Amino acid sequence: MSDLIIAIDGPVGAGKSTAARLLAKRLRYRYIDSGAMYRALTWKALQVGLDLDDERSVRRLADATSIALEPDGDRERILVDGQDVSRQIREREVEQATSKISIYPSVREVMVARQRHMAAQGGIVMDGRDIGTVVFPDADVKFYLTARLEVRAERRYLEVQAAGASRKISELTEEIELRDARDMGRHTSPLRRADEAITIDTSDLPIAQVVDAMEEEIRRKVAAAKGLTRVP
Ligand code: C5P
Repeated sequence: MSDLIIAIDGPVGAGKSTAARLLAKRLRYRYIDSGAMYRALTWKALQVGLDLDDERSVRRLADATSIALEPDGDRERILVDGQDVSRQIREREVEQATSKISIYPSVREVMVARQRHMAAQGGIVMDGRDIGTVVFPDADVKFYLTARLEVRAERRYLEVQAAGASRKISELTEEIELRDARDMGRHTSPLRRADEAITIDTSDLPIAQVVDAMEEEIRRKVAAAKGLTRVP
């Protein structure tokens, strides 16, 4: 399986990036975290003090900003104009502002074009909110990951703790709900399950089992298409 495009979408804390990263490793594919690209642009917008309510300025900034995703051990390094901002883009302020700028159609246009370009050779696993619906409507396999709200909040809680910070679980729950509401409620490319996506509820599944299920589904699809489409 050398050149498939695997799309993964879902709400905050569904386990997308962990699953996508592991799946890519197993398949020897490249993992692309599309959310990191929106975060990177937001980081820069905040850095230069841009008015986030002004779509045209944000679009102009998007055009003028280089965003690179590079493998870095088991993770990825995110570079904005050559500067490593992998840690900064995970900060709370950036996170909350990201779902604001990602509502802009003209900004999404830039990101989607770059995402398609990055995947031109195939052999990628990309996760986000609109990957199966907008970025790659013809993706070879699409997944929609989800989990119960309390499980997602607990995951965030543990992540925050691991990063050495401390937050109330009730606050994290509110933030998740707010971000999901923005991502699902926006006019352009709202988060929704693509019709043909396979839904996996990760609430009660260890991550390895989530990835097993995904891999099995991909192999099943490839076997079904044997002789017809891109098979090794
Ligand atoms: O996936 P992550 O939580 O890092 O994404 C951060 C934010 O970026 C999301 O809440 C969403 O607003 C935006 N996003 C998007 N489309 C994508 C990926 C992320 O709008 N494909």
